Amino acid sequence: MSQEYNKSDKTDNQNNTPNPFDNKKNKGKKPKFNSLWIYAILAVVFILISVLGGSSGNKIDMKELLKMVSKGEVESIDVDIANGGRAEVFLTKDAKKLKDHKNEVKENPFPGGTAPYTYYLSSVGDYEYFNTQIENAQSNIDVEKRAFVNPVNKGNIWDSPLVTLVIYIVIFGLIWMFIMRRMGGGAGGAGGSQIFSIGKSKAQLFDKDTKVNVTFKDVAGLEGAKEEVMEIVDFLKNPKKYTNLGGKIPKGALLVGPPGTGKTLLAKAVAGEADVPFFSLSGSDFVEMFVGVGASRVRDLFKQAKEKAPCIIFIDEIDAIGRARGKNAMQGGNDERENTLNQLLTEMDGFGTDTGVIMLAATNRADILDSALLRAGRFDRQIYADMPDLNERREIFDVHLKPIKIVKDLDIDFLARQTPGFSGADIANMCNEAALIAARHDKKVVEKQDFLDAVDRIVGGLEKKNKIITPEEKYAIAVHEAGHATVSWMCEFAHPLVKVTIVPRGRSLGAAWYLPNERQITRTEEMLDEMCATLGGRAAEKVVFDKISTGALNDLEKVTKQAMAMVSIYGLNEAIGNISYYNMDNSFSKPFSEKQAALIDGEIKKLTDEQYARAISILSENKDKLLKLADQLLDKEVIFKEDVEKIFGMSASDVAAKKYKEEVPEVVIEAKSEVTEVLEEEDTKEKESE
Ligand code: ATP
Repeated sequence: MSQEYNKSDKTDNQNNTPNPFDNKKNKGKKPKFNSLWIYAILAVVFILISVLGGSSGNKIDMKELLKMVSKGEVESIDVDIANGGRAEVFLTKDAKKLKDHKNEVKENPFPGGTAPYTYYLSSVGDYEYFNTQIENAQSNIDVEKRAFVNPVNKGNIWDSPLVTLVIYIVIFGLIWMFIMRRMGGGAGGAGGSQIFSIGKSKAQLFDKDTKVNVTFKDVAGLEGAKEEVMEIVDFLKNPKKYTNLGGKIPKGALLVGPPGTGKTLLAKAVAGEADVPFFSLSGSDFVEMFVGVGASRVRDLFKQAKEKAPCIIFIDEIDAIGRARGKNAMQGGNDERENTLNQLLTEMDGFGTDTGVIMLAATNRADILDSALLRAGRFDRQIYADMPDLNERREIFDVHLKPIKIVKDLDIDFLARQTPGFSGADIANMCNEAALIAARHDKKVVEKQDFLDAVDRIVGGLEKKNKIITPEEKYAIAVHEAGHATVSWMCEFAHPLVKVTIVPRGRSLGAAWYLPNERQITRTEEMLDEMCATLGGRAAEKVVFDKISTGALNDLEKVTKQAMAMVSIYGLNEAIGNISYYNMDNSFSKPFSEKQAALIDGEIKKLTDEQYARAISILSENKDKLLKLADQLLDKEVIFKEDVEKIFGMSASDVAAKKYKEEVPEVVIEAKSEVTEVLEEEDTKEKESE
């Protein structure tokens, strides 16, 4: 079975049923029995009964009938009173042989069936009167030769129980076929037969015949991850190299990282580079509405993989099945998912390190995966795909700018610096968006400004220039945004300002844009300065209008989260001390006492109040400059760092940087950079020698 099944995989990777349009394959094979045949046969029988066994005979009128009756040629007359008084005339045996009627007589096509009538009368009119007329007509002939008039109720052919039964069978059959098709996964294939393939794995197979165009060159950055993955490919190609020294080949590697960092891309590159079969599927492909299907699909997948070994199995979004199994029986569990996971765990245990099957899986939620899945011997390795740093972003830009027509002197370094916090997917999207923006403006090449517009669009959403905003509201927005800009300008550790705008975008009415410092750890004063700058908007409304509005919702949400994190996660609050409740929170029981909860709440409030008061004091001191900035903003809608500098002078962070340069002798700074250079050189040498 599996031999044939694998072949069909090659030609039709989307579903594992043989392609009905593949004539070559079907040649010489007898057509398979199909439930459709039964329905076709039933339909033909039904038509035959209704056509042949149904009506027959020629129409006559009353006068002709009475003539036949008077001659004793009629055996019986069936009068269907319910059907408008239609009469069917049955002739005697002798009369059928007569020259007059010979040509009109028909026989029943079904042997043993009753003989059909020879003539019919569309209506007998009044039944009593008709009876009297027949009686009168045959009053002169022998009693044995007289015709019987039988009142009958034949009704419509569709009323017959047989027909009703056939209709029921046909309808039921159609519904059954429809359900079978749905269960079998839909398109193509022979209707009901798909039910038999429901437990088969849905993995897509890439091997020599199926070309994957992605290579490691398409994956920018992620050097460490790439190396590890390449090693896995090498394990499969030269297993002896590793096993000769007594080492065991790892069974699986888990690619972990935030969304859009290139995990799937990396796996695709493995498929493109490795000369071994590559099974690719998603965690959700195991899930079906029927119990036991997931486990059966896991079994089938591993069976196929073992036949094709050495090979790689890649499961994307493994969290769909790999989520930690329920510990609490009270909460109930998703049995089907757990069964699937159990089967996966068993199969991974089942294949030895020498089987030549390696599993790759990707997820961005490694924290919710079942610990049994992550233990050594299953996914022995975790490969981390992190958000790209400056250099990696530059490389990703290089990859995605290749197909785009850009201006000659485009500064890719600048683009990389403008996009901190962007994932690979964001950068790919940005390059595409920039090309679309340039095309919209009928440009021949994509310019720097198009890329900046693309960043704005991706971060802030679509520009909504024609949103209806009253002049008062517009001024309030200008004051709010100017408040953010002013406070961040005056705080040494706040993120550097890029521009301030009051053009509505997405759901926001205006925004102060910052270029976040790329840092790995954040200090208390940096968090406090950021909170202060975030509260600058509301504080400005208070200082200028002495009224506050709902416009600060996002700011308040952000500040509250930050304050909560400082107090209860990062241990940055003196009163709470070095305690972290990270990941301990669940809605049923808090990991702290009521008293501690009150203390935490109090400290959060204290923190935000302090920063709000600080923002108010900064803005009150600089109220004239704040108003000037708001006016300029109202006038130009977008103002840049340079305009702000003209009003306020050098920013606090620039002042601090300048002071640092002055205080720390140049020699020390140079010496420091020399040391870094030497270290970097050594690093590259090491890498090269490896
Ligand atoms: P998710 O966890 O959401 O599935 P992912 O990490 O699997 O995300 P991918 O699907 O691999 O992300 O990436 C999406 C797209 O982003 C890729 O098709 C590619 O265009 C781009 N991309 C991401 N990372 C990189 C990278 N390192 N180099 C080049 N392109 C990248």
